[in-house]
Amino acid sequence: MTGAKKKKIIKTIKIDADKCNGCRACELICSAFHAAPKYSSNNPARARIRVINEPLKDIYIPVYAGDYTPAECAGRDKYTIDGKEYEECAFCRASCPSREDFKEPDSGLPLKCDMCEGEEEPLCVKWCITDALVLEEREEEVEGEEAQEELEIGVKSLAKKYGLQNVAEVVARMAMSNKD
Ligand code: SF4
Ligand code: SF4
Repeated sequence: MTGAKKKKIIKTIKIDADKCNGCRACELICSAFHAAPKYSSNNPARARIRVINEPLKDIYIPVYAGDYTPAECAGRDKYTIDGKEYEECAFCRASCPSREDFKEPDSGLPLKCDMCEGEEEPLCVKWCITDALVLEEREEEVEGEEAQEELEIGVKSLAKKYGLQNVAEVVARMAMSNKD
């Protein structure tokens, strides 16, 4: 593995806040896609994207759900952009104990954008008719060691969620079926 180059795809959603009109279609489709069963309901509170929506101040900013953090920040930030003052922590992507954003409303479990795993294009991008959200993809070469580290982190997180034994059994089954 050492020294060998691998390719990885980096997906970026470019956000043009000036084009966002606060319609919240992105929140609706995200929550519907992640409903169980899929598309059985929609509730923006379950979306992995949140639109800061303050019509009186002409503020509309889509923010994506990022990582969960068990501890809130000791210091906060507050932005003023073009004379518009935003709420404390407005742009933060974390699911954090200090606020309700990016938490599943019933269970309180953290929500994180998964780029609509399995879909060719993120659905929020597809549903945003103003092009405030645009997907960009690029290929990057990474060192074999870096790819290996990422793989290990991925496996560790699966093991934490499902148990190492279960993950190992699934991998063994996949390896067997690939032989056929
Ligand atoms: S769908 Fe697009 S325009 Fe509508 S709120 Fe979301 S980002 Fe803004
Ligand atoms: S990319 Fe998919 S999971 Fe992420 S916010 Fe958009 S619709 Fe939700």
